[in-house]
Amino acid sequence: MKRQTGFTLVELVIVIAVLGILAGLAIPYFMEAREEAAKKECLANRTQIMRMFHAQQAVGYSGDLDGFLKEVTKEKDNENKYFTFVSKCADGGKYEVKVDFVTCDFPGHDEDLLAASSIPEDILKKFNDMIDSFYKDGVLDKDALNKLLGITNADDKTLTSNDLMRKAFFEKYGGWIEGIGVDGKPIYFKFHKTVDGILVYANGNSDFKNSGDWAANYVYNASTSKWYYGGKNQWGVNDNTISVSNINNDIHTTEQAKANEQKILDTITDPSKGWTEVTLNGNTFSK
Ligand SMILES: [Zn+2]
Repeated sequence: MKRQTGFTLVELVIVIAVLGILAGLAIPYFMEAREEAAKKECLANRTQIMRMFHAQQAVGYSGDLDGFLKEVTKEKDNENKYFTFVSKCADGGKYEVKVDFVTCDFPGHDEDLLAASSIPEDILKKFNDMIDSFYKDGVLDKDALNKLLGITNADDKTLTSNDLMRKAFFEKYGGWIEGIGVDGKPIYFKFHKTVDGILVYANGNSDFKNSGDWAANYVYNASTSKWYYGGKNQWGVNDNTISVSNINNDIHTTEQAKANEQKILDTITDPSKGWTEVTLNGNTFSK
């Protein structure tokens, strides 16, 4: 009988197949690890930029974050007096200042940053701070609003004060805070001053519109900290939006505004109206 040495063809084929399967399992993990590393490095870069910005402010730097970002991301090292390297995204994402953060436009790179800043609490805080800054002893300070907006004619009543606050936020922060909807398309976080606080909502319109921007695709219920995604409106029409215009306490009486706000909250939390609870992770909605 011939003594068998080495492997038979069948054994070799099996070994190769097993190795192939193992490689197939491992490669996605390696890819994921690389992606995760690039994302962490990107966030670390931007955190360093923020730290350096705050450190420079502490020693008298008077510029804004936008200008600082441009300085530290200059490609020529000799023009950069803050870092010995150029802070940039390993995946080629573009850095941009949005509100108070340095953001990266590479998909997924902002997740941790935004999660760390705890949106919607962060959005709520900005909206609330904005609104608070326009109140003096509980009374809306229209002079402060007009000053910010450059309105010289104090009698200019083309905008209601709620609109003025929204416009002021839009101009101060250079736009609405951007997010991603359940369909993967951009949405924008907005607010309306209500009788007791603010109603935060989101829709797909990036502009500031004095009117016609009151259709909400997403509504935040502050009392339960839950978000709801569009179904039928107050009038039973299923267009994935609800009108939030009629909670405006500049136009409606306190009782009307409160009742209308309650109707909005009742509608979005009523399963028969087709609104669904969605989760907001960072600035991205998912069902
Ligand atoms: Zn990045």
